[in-house]
Amino acid sequence: MLMRMNRHETIIIGGGPIGLEIAASLQIAGNDCIVLDSGAIGSTIDRLFPPNTRFFSSPERLEIAGVACSTVEQEKITREEYLCYLRQVVDTVGIDIRTFHHVETIHRSDDGFDLEARTRSGACRRFRTDRLVLATGGMARVRTLGIDGESLPHVRHELGDPHQYHGRRVLIVGGRNSACEAAIRCWRSGAHVHLCHRNEVVNERVKYWIRPELIALMEEGRITEHAQTTLERITEDDVQLVSAGTGETTRLEVDDVLLMIGYEHDPSMMHHLGVRTDAANGAPLFDIDTMGTNVDNLHVAGTATAGTQDRFRVYIENCHIHAERIASAITGTDSPEASNGRLLEES
Ligand SMILES: Cc1cc2nc3c(=O)[nH]c(=O)nc-3n(C[C@H](O)[C@H](O)[C@H](O)COP(=O)(O)OP(=O)(O)OC[C@H]3O[C@@H](n4cnc5c(N)ncnc54)[C@H](O)[C@@H]3O)c2cc1C
Repeated sequence: MLMRMNRHETIIIGGGPIGLEIAASLQIAGNDCIVLDSGAIGSTIDRLFPPNTRFFSSPERLEIAGVACSTVEQEKITREEYLCYLRQVVDTVGIDIRTFHHVETIHRSDDGFDLEARTRSGACRRFRTDRLVLATGGMARVRTLGIDGESLPHVRHELGDPHQYHGRRVLIVGGRNSACEAAIRCWRSGAHVHLCHRNEVVNERVKYWIRPELIALMEEGRITEHAQTTLERITEDDVQLVSAGTGETTRLEVDDVLLMIGYEHDPSMMHHLGVRTDAANGAPLFDIDTMGTNVDNLHVAGTATAGTQDRFRVYIENCHIHAERIASAITGTDSPEASNGRLLEES
């Protein structure tokens, strides 16, 4: 009885923008589908964006399911505004999403897939589906440096609320958007900021409203830059930095260390299901027209299709087409032409 109640034509794992967009397309086509997500709606954005961070992408390029997305001040959209937008899409379209359902096991059976999901309360929920879509994203785990002290409690990978850094000596490691934005926001919140990165100059692809300001603050000596430098060791009281050019070692007393060096894709679910993946970055191999993998009735979508991205080339705006392709493949309608979406700089 329980199994029958939880049987669906399609289950989408991942309630990020692309998983929701697929659910909307399928639902409009009359397919009985649900979405399962480990966290809240848009969990990656919810967990990894610091408060009030603005997307690089323009709001209209983040629109899903034909629901208009705009901001009061005609600016780039913030984390909070976009999460509000996603909630509205879910409610407007009536998407059936089960939040805080972390899919732990999947077994293929003769007529589909059996899933077990763990809820926030620790309960186990079982589902059966004919078709499975993995829209699980590409930022499952943080990159690590593999150095001593990396697991100390004052070492973090996400900025969180900059308020907490007031009056503290903060070392930020990384040279891309997240690290550069964190440096400015921590400094504005009253922190003493050191930025350590491996390049000669701040990466030219950093957001155009961040890079010039950061460079000015570093030139004025308000933020201390450690260019062409690597972090070698962390203790409770200090860090050891090594200059790539001179080999010189510097000991720096700090209160907090923010390692903002990116994220990695977790291909374990795909491997467990027998999906063929690229050996280099874990990206699944799939049919471009249907988003289907080598496993029958198993599709992939969104940034999960790209594996680990060193430089972001697959993001929300060039994944909208995945929803249309999957809906076409599942409901039997014509597949759309490939999108000619403009590629944005990395996030
Ligand atoms: C600071 C920052 C700024 C960014 N700026 C931009 C930008 O400007 N433009 C842009 O396009 N992108 C940006 N990104 C990247 C953006 O977050 C992704 O492009 C987007 O979230 C991808 O959508 P998705 O639906 O493919 O995957 P995700 O949003 O990552 O969704 C995947 C979902 O799958 C769920 N999931 C995974 N495994 C399981 C499981 N076993 N069981 C249940 N659920 C599971 C996760 O909880 C998650 O909610 C930024 C990222 C960061 C951190």
